[in-house]
Amino acid sequence: MTYTLDTNILIGLVQRYPRDIFPAMWSNIESSVHAGDSCICEAILREVHRGGDELHEWAKGLPGFVCPATDEELELVAEIAVAHPGWVQGQLNEADPFVVAHAKAEQSTIVTEESRKGPNTLDKNQKIPNIADGHGVETVKFFDYVRENGWRF
Ligand SMILES: [Zn+2]
Repeated sequence: MTYTLDTNILIGLVQRYPRDIFPAMWSNIESSVHAGDSCICEAILREVHRGGDELHEWAKGLPGFVCPATDEELELVAEIAVAHPGWVQGQLNEADPFVVAHAKAEQSTIVTEESRKGPNTLDKNQKIPNIADGHGVETVKFFDYVRENGWRF
């Protein structure tokens, strides 16, 4: 099982599991990255500045963590934009279609704290799990990711 992490997961790490208090949380994630089981897409790296420079440096400096966008993924992003023209609201969620496209291309599971909205939700209110559903991509929340990896503290 491989996982691609959303921005809210990385920012949540900094805010709720700071490394000086939860060092094992961070080293477990690093081990998972080294094993090729966890990654982020390039578009997410651009957003992690919101979690501070230290987080950005950590993500950028972790070998194998950041996956560059492929042509296949850019095509998928374009398809998503056609299917859900109102979904992306500028900087607020501009990386989201890239996360879905990356997970689909890599056949990985998305780790995000976003919750699925009900049927007939307007495009602008749709969340990653909604769009992922339409592409056969699985989404889990942070604690599911921790549990599925068998990490205990
Ligand atoms: Zn990846």
